[in-house]
Amino acid sequence: MHKQAMTLISLPESRAEAEALDATDPLALCRDAFALPEGVTYLVGHSLGPATIGALRNLRAASEGAWVNDRVGAWNSAEWIHLSEHVGNRLARLVGAKAGEVVVCDSVSINLFKLAASALPLARTRRLVVEEDEFPTDQYILDGLSGLTGVDLVRAAPGKGISQLEGGVLVKSLVNYRSSQLADMAADEASAQSGGGVIIWDLSHATGVLDVKLSAASARFATGCTYKYLNGGPGAPAFVYARADVADRLETPLPGWMGHSAPFEFTSAYAPKTGTARFASGTPPILSLAALNGALDVFDGVSMVEVQSKARALGQMCLMMAEGMGLDVASPLDPASRGGHVSVCHPDGYPLVRALADWGIEADFRTPHTIRFGLSPLFLGYAEIWDAMSELAEIIETRSWDTEAYREKAIVT
Ligand SMILES: *Cc1c(COP(=O)(O)O)cnc(C)c1O
Repeated sequence: MHKQAMTLISLPESRAEAEALDATDPLALCRDAFALPEGVTYLVGHSLGPATIGALRNLRAASEGAWVNDRVGAWNSAEWIHLSEHVGNRLARLVGAKAGEVVVCDSVSINLFKLAASALPLARTRRLVVEEDEFPTDQYILDGLSGLTGVDLVRAAPGKGISQLEGGVLVKSLVNYRSSQLADMAADEASAQSGGGVIIWDLSHATGVLDVKLSAASARFATGCTYKYLNGGPGAPAFVYARADVADRLETPLPGWMGHSAPFEFTSAYAPKTGTARFASGTPPILSLAALNGALDVFDGVSMVEVQSKARALGQMCLMMAEGMGLDVASPLDPASRGGHVSVCHPDGYPLVRALADWGIEADFRTPHTIRFGLSPLFLGYAEIWDAMSELAEIIETRSWDTEAYREKAIVT
C-alpha cells in the first residue's frame, strides 16, 4: 500500500474491519434519507445522485399541493418567486460562499457562457483558455463564445491552463471528470490574479462531496451541477457563484427578466438585480428547484470536512482493491489530490460495467477504457464497497463479462 495514503487514512484489511468502520461512521445515518432500492450499490452518484425522501416530498408538495391548490398564486403563497435565491443561499454554505453570492438557474453549459462573457471585461487580456481534457461542454461553450466575440480560444495542454493564461479568462474544473484530479484552487487563483487573469471554476464534480472553499481561495466566478453529488434530480438546475464585490459590476450577456430588479414593472429598460441574482435569466423550473431544495436537507448539520474525508477513504479502498486485481489506476493515488470518484482502466471496461450492473453494482463507463466509481459518502458504506470490489474481482477472474450482450452499447453510458 502507498505510504501517503496510509498516513492519512487507515484502510480496512478485511470485511470485519470495514464493518467496524461503518459502526463508528458519523455519516452512516444519512443513508435513511435516500430512496435507494434494496440490493443496489450505487456508485454513480457523481453522474446522477439518487432520489431522497426530502426531494420526493418537496416535489409532491409543489405539484400535488401548491400547483393544484394555489395555481398561479403559488408564485407568491409558496414563495416560488424567491426559490432560486433561497436554494442558492442553502448551497452557499456547501461551497464556502456567503449568502447572496449563489443563485440557482439554467444548466452549467449556459452558466459557463454567461460567466465567461461577463468575466472578459475584467481580464487584462482578451483571451479565452481551456485545457484539452476539460469536460466537453466547457470546451464547446468557449468555442461558441470565441466565435461570437472574435476573442481567441487557446487550447492548453492538460494542467497547463494557468501557465498559458496570460491575463485571460480560463474555464477550469476543480475536479477532472475523468481522472478525479483535484486542482489547487487557492494557488491557481493567486497565480491567475497576479497576472490579471480570471478563472471560472466548474465545480460539477466537487460540489456536495468536497469541502469547497470559494471565499477562502479568493475565487470570483464558479458554476456547477446540482444533479450529481447534491442529488437534486435529473435535469436539476445548476448554480452560479459570483463574489459579492465583483457581482455588481458584471453584465450578463443573457439579461432576462428574472434577473431584472423589478420584473413585474414590465419596463423596456433593463436594470439588473443587485449581486449574483442578476444571472437568473428566464422563469425557473420550479418543480426541479423544489426537488433540489428537499434534497439539500440531507446536508443540514453535516460537516463537509467529514463528507470529504469519507469520500476519500472509500475511494482509497476502491483503488487499492482495484490495483490488487491488476487494474490500471487512472486517478491520483494520493487522496488529497482527488475528488469523490475514482477511475480505473480496462480494455473491456464497457462489458465489465454491464456485468457489474447485473450484480446490482452500478458504475459508469467513459470511452474508450475508463470505469468510474462515484463514492457518495452520504449513502455508501465501507462494507458495501468491500463487497462491490470483491464482486468485481470475481467477474474479472471468471470472465463472466465476456458476452455479446454485455458489449452492446446503450446511448447513455
Ligand atoms: C456534469 C458536468 C457538466 C454538465 O453540464 P450541463 O450543462 O449542466 O449539462 C458540466 N461540466 C462538468 C465538468 C460536468 O461534470
